[in-house]
Amino acid sequence: MKPPPFDYLAPSSLEEALDVLAEKGGEAKLLAGGQSLVPVLNFRLAQPALLVDLNRIAELDYIDVDEAGAVRIGAMTRQRALERDPRIAASAPLLAETMPLIAHPQIRNRGTIGGSLAHADPAGELPVAAVALDGEIVLRGRRGERTVAAADFFVGLMTTAMTEDEMLCELRLPATPKRTGWSFREIARRHGDYAHAGVAARMTLADDGTIARARLVYLSAGEVPLSATAATGVLDGGAPCEELFAEAASTARGEVDPSDDIHATAEFKKHLAEVLTRRALAAAWERARAAQR
Ligand SMILES: Cc1cc2nc3c(=O)[nH]c(=O)nc-3n(C[C@H](O)[C@H](O)[C@H](O)COP(=O)(O)OP(=O)(O)OC[C@H]3O[C@@H](n4cnc5c(N)ncnc54)[C@H](O)[C@@H]3O)c2cc1C
Repeated sequence: MKPPPFDYLAPSSLEEALDVLAEKGGEAKLLAGGQSLVPVLNFRLAQPALLVDLNRIAELDYIDVDEAGAVRIGAMTRQRALERDPRIAASAPLLAETMPLIAHPQIRNRGTIGGSLAHADPAGELPVAAVALDGEIVLRGRRGERTVAAADFFVGLMTTAMTEDEMLCELRLPATPKRTGWSFREIARRHGDYAHAGVAARMTLADDGTIARARLVYLSAGEVPLSATAATGVLDGGAPCEELFAEAASTARGEVDPSDDIHATAEFKKHLAEVLTRRALAAAWERARAAQR
């Protein structure tokens, strides 16, 4: 199918785009990489009167890493740019590990980080990584700028805390604490497909080798990226070992809430989540120990 008719604007500055949003917010849709929006338009799931193309706004395309290792990423940064940037690999390795799991290189060449976060698909990897990394999302509108924790940004199925007159401008990631390991594991039918189940794990070790803080965030496990707080409660303060990881994984199985679909039952996806959790925790522990040496 083809989309219904719409007006088209391509502002060349953020200020111009914010003016348009302030005036036409309710009738307008922002176009970033178009990898999710264009199919949505073609299926007529959305019928905006106006498309506001962000692709000429160069000031939204940047990766900045400060001396402490904190990262700022502009909304129009392509997924492929993140995948290839050695500063991301060094300062936010979980994000670097996430990128190749998203779709195919052709899609990542166009798809942006802002589009992925704003689209808020519970099957998407970037929302999960942003929550696991304690990210913050910077929103701007004519009424001002505000920063929302990624954990609070995703409020429902493909629904975010952003209002119609706001634009997602930046993702901020705090510096990775010392002695931190990470892993993003998922299972899809074919590489590049949306995954049946997936988990981002992070683990920071205390000086004595116990787990100071763990983080487990799941995709396709509910309407938003799911933080398994009962499972991380099992891990925090514990001595890392396979038995502890198995107990946490079994607890996480009870927390995830996937749906049946034509390819897999919810029960099978819960099983996958448990298996992936064990594997992700083992890998994160290995990396945390390597960072300790
Ligand atoms: C075949 C295929 C397979 C895919 N597989 C995966 C996958 O495995 N995992 C995955 O995570 N994704 C997958 N995707 C989606 C892909 O990652 C998209 O790039 C991403 O979801 C949207 O990014 P985009 O830049 O293309 O945004 P667009 O499609 O342009 O926009 C998406 C939505 O975000 C809004 N938006 C965009 N930018 C902003 C902004 N700065 N502020 C506010 N709102 C904004 C738009 O208005 C729209 O509602 C796949 C896509 C395709 C076509």
